[in-house]
Amino acid sequence: MKQGADLYLTKPLVPMKLLKAVAGFIAKHLLLRYEREERRQLRKAAVMMNSKPVPALPRSGTNGEKMEEALQKDWEKCIDFHGHQCPGLAIGFRVAFAARKRLEITSAADEELVCVTENDACGIDAIQFLLSCTLGKGNLIYRDRGKQAFSFFLREQGKKLRIRLIRPFNKETGDRNAYQQEILTLPDEEIFSFSEPAYDLPVKARIFKTVTCEQCGETTAEAKIRLHDGKKLCLDCTPEYLRRW
Ligand SMILES: [Zn+2]
Ligand SMILES: [Zn+2]
Repeated sequence: MKQGADLYLTKPLVPMKLLKAVAGFIAKHLLLRYEREERRQLRKAAVMMNSKPVPALPRSGTNGEKMEEALQKDWEKCIDFHGHQCPGLAIGFRVAFAARKRLEITSAADEELVCVTENDACGIDAIQFLLSCTLGKGNLIYRDRGKQAFSFFLREQGKKLRIRLIRPFNKETGDRNAYQQEILTLPDEEIFSFSEPAYDLPVKARIFKTVTCEQCGETTAEAKIRLHDGKKLCLDCTPEYLRRW
């Protein structure tokens, strides 16, 4: 009996090496599963923290339900494009729709619609996304005034419209979420003033000759080249004082 037990201990039915390997495999697998689940939970929490519920948008148009759904989708797409939702994005969103309505346009395939933005805040992202006025196409021009105002020009028809926010956010007492909701839901006339821009239609974007800077060797548009000591230099290589001439 004793002999038999000894025999069993020294020669197990399943080799110890294999047992250890199986146990190790199970432990590793369980740990991986645990880590995966933990990561999943963290991701879920992060998503929940970042995305407050998207507020309902006003109904407009004749087919109420459908219009509301379409607006909601556009708003969500703007949030995706911009990266977050905020009152500034809501301003741009409403500006884009007000411009569409008043200028009877959808979006700009080329340069027939030009937007001149007087700020570089969040709202311009909604305008870029919804009206296709983009820096790359040359139909988005930044006129740095720090004002919540946007002008639109229709080249062909000669139409122009300036939309300016008349319901500013009160930084001291205002609630951002409530303000965003106001911007998204109030009628156009309660949040914007509409007028003719005091400035003219900007010239069409030009394609300039390419010139090589004689100092750094990089190429740039001819219009951005400066002459310095008889050399053609790019703006990065031109001494600062010359740029004020
Ligand atoms: Zn923003
Ligand atoms: Zn240079």
